[in-house]
Amino acid sequence: MTEEILSARLEKIRKELNEASGGKYPVPRLIAVTKTRPAEDILLLEKLGISEIGENRVQELREKLPELEGHFRIHLIGRLQRNKVRYIAGSVDMIQSVDSVPLAEEISRRALEAERRIPILIEVNPAGEEQKGGVRPDEVRPLISAIRRLDGIRIRGLMAVMPLTEDSDLLRRLFTGMRELYEQLREEALPGTEIEELSMGMSGDYRLAAECGATMVRVGSAIFGPRN
Ligand SMILES: *Cc1c(COP(=O)(O)O)cnc(C)c1O
Repeated sequence: MTEEILSARLEKIRKELNEASGGKYPVPRLIAVTKTRPAEDILLLEKLGISEIGENRVQELREKLPELEGHFRIHLIGRLQRNKVRYIAGSVDMIQSVDSVPLAEEISRRALEAERRIPILIEVNPAGEEQKGGVRPDEVRPLISAIRRLDGIRIRGLMAVMPLTEDSDLLRRLFTGMRELYEQLREEALPGTEIEELSMGMSGDYRLAAECGATMVRVGSAIFGPRN
């Protein structure tokens, strides 16, 4: 991987994000998804203006952490097992994949041990797909009510994992529905919440997500090339 290639791809993505948000919404922040990529490639991004990265596996993150810590804000974006929380509670800047009360309770407990408060997002599975992480949109409020008083966490918004589909009308409906839910929760401003983030859009659909009001997009293969 060379800096020239990365630079050209980032420039293209940033231009598209600018165009897609079209002045209607602020341009979303670009979170570089660095799973499966070696630390030496990831570090090239720092000079190119990337300050936030996403990793989806605890074990892999732990291995790369010594080289990455201090260089980037680190988001955990993948499915998180409760028994792994303790390994990352001291180091991650945000956990985007919270979809159950027991998981939130464990993050709270481990955050308090680490004397931190960890920002979290509620992971939503807007199409209600089986065997995917995330709660259905109608389960978001009950989950927030159940966990918003926990110490050690702060609910900062929503993260969506979309179905793998080429159907852009469907995607647009789902993205728009997520934006509406996000705006309602912002207005409700429940104690224990500080709703500022809507994490949606990946390599295949970040333009559409930007058009529909994402505050951050999570992009991996459009930056680094296909994963094998
Ligand atoms: C891998 C991954 C991404 C990025 O996927 P690309 O298609 O490579 O951009 C985004 N979000 C989550 C949760 C992921 O696991």
